[in-house]
Amino acid sequence: MNQTVYSLVTEGVVKDLQALLGPSAVTVDREKRAAYSKDEVPSFAFDREYLAEAVVFPRSTEDVSALMKYANDHLLPVTPRGAGTGLSGGAVPFAGGIVLSFEKMGRILELDRQNLTITVEPGVVTAEITKAAAREGLLYAGDPCSGDASYIGGNVAENAGGNKVVKYGTTGNSVLALEAVLADGTVMEFGGKRRKDATGYDFAHLIVGSEGTLAVVTKITLKLLPLPERVVDLLIPFPDVASAIDFAPRIQSEGKVIPSSLEFLDRKSIRLAERFLNTSLPCDDAGAHLIVQLEGNDPEVLADEMERIGDLCFAHGAIEVFVADNRTTRDKLWKARKCLAEAIMAFYPKYSLEDLVVPTSEIPKLLEETTRLCRKYGLEEANFGHVGDGNMHVNLLFPEERPGWHEDLEELLGELYDFTAKIGGTLSGEHGIGLKRQKYMCRVMDGAQMELIRRVKAAFDPKNILNPGKIINCPDGGNPPV
Ligand SMILES: Cc1cc2nc3c(=O)[nH]c(=O)nc-3n(C[C@H](O)[C@H](O)[C@H](O)COP(=O)(O)OP(=O)(O)OC[C@H]3O[C@@H](n4cnc5c(N)ncnc54)[C@H](O)[C@@H]3O)c2cc1C
Repeated sequence: MNQTVYSLVTEGVVKDLQALLGPSAVTVDREKRAAYSKDEVPSFAFDREYLAEAVVFPRSTEDVSALMKYANDHLLPVTPRGAGTGLSGGAVPFAGGIVLSFEKMGRILELDRQNLTITVEPGVVTAEITKAAAREGLLYAGDPCSGDASYIGGNVAENAGGNKVVKYGTTGNSVLALEAVLADGTVMEFGGKRRKDATGYDFAHLIVGSEGTLAVVTKITLKLLPLPERVVDLLIPFPDVASAIDFAPRIQSEGKVIPSSLEFLDRKSIRLAERFLNTSLPCDDAGAHLIVQLEGNDPEVLADEMERIGDLCFAHGAIEVFVADNRTTRDKLWKARKCLAEAIMAFYPKYSLEDLVVPTSEIPKLLEETTRLCRKYGLEEANFGHVGDGNMHVNLLFPEERPGWHEDLEELLGELYDFTAKIGGTLSGEHGIGLKRQKYMCRVMDGAQMELIRRVKAAFDPKNILNPGKIINCPDGGNPPV
């Protein structure tokens, strides 16, 4: 494996960057560099500290283009960064160099009612897009649990999922067009407001999910839909995990209803949410809960769907069906679902938040194996996630500090990932590979697939300056920490 020896961000480089982008667009302040050099993966997951040498705040596509051209000419690594809510270390500057923050590119540029699109800069907070669309009676379907903080650029780069994928697909399904800056500073447009495109390669959707390794996204056009007039959430407790998981697919296959959300929480997750929010949820003794969201315009149709799901629930072992049809109870429910990652971070000294995805029929096997491995290695588990997509956030928890925890975790993850691959699954459904899972890629991809990734990467970024060290070891960043 080659190692690129990058240039360092010297005083001269800083002066050049300030001349290109303006004096306030560049900082080398140590505290700021540290704050912009991490995401939500805890530092204990990595073998060393990673620190950017400079953080740059562009205000326009032209700024990004000028920066990338300079970085490419001078062999400086560049790590794009959204809001830093990532759970794979994607925004961590593996090779030092420049972190490219999009916090000053946060404008909604256009909402086009005729074409049902919204065009935004990458630093717009996801929830702001949802709100802007809703004000016009429209729906932006992207709904990651981190949506109050994450940026749309980060969502695009990770192909973020969230709570509405079962009906509307991942972020990529909403992306119609991207403006992107290539590693050498070239500005390209991919896609358009058109809903179909069979003209050559679909570069927009190659860049979606590429974790900032192929191009820097500077403008995004997203698809909008009519906003449903009514929303109802059902909280359905089951006596155990097996019955909840067995029931979930029946909503579509037997009930003939496509829910907009279909979420699963095991007992431990419920306890964590209750403790974190200092609240209580109905049906304390349940082994697992499902949250089912239904959307529509016609109250009678919604009532019929609820009834069908209710009948199915009781025929398949549900303990109760709680209906949340007003803002307050719905908010309470979703707060519980959305706080789970933070709750784990607050209560456990060491943990690994996983993002496995398997065919939905294989979820029971995945959860059984997780339990077996946690017992074997003496860990606790809390499992929740997007059961409708087969995307399980399997969370491996160390109840207390202990020597050798890191080695145990690595072994457990190796076994778990191998098992996941064996049942047709893979490492990540929505959080990405980043730095955290990079070394496990060979467990789910063969040499030929990895080589193809390297060749695509080299075609976009021949000098390997864009987010080096991520996804796979495509010759990685060779510089020592600064
Ligand atoms: C509590 C919590 C809940 C979460 N829930 C979900 C969930 O439900 N679904 C889900 O999918 N994820 C979830 N996440 C993970 C995370 O929020 C998403 O991955 C999100 O998309 C990251 O966005 P960000 O702006 O924070 O990006 P960052 O973490 O800053 O960056 C993520 C990646 O995007 C790249 N990037 C950022 N901006 C650009 C750009 N303009 N051009 C090119 N590359 C860029 C970075 O280099 C990096 O590789 C959750 C995280 C937390 C902490």
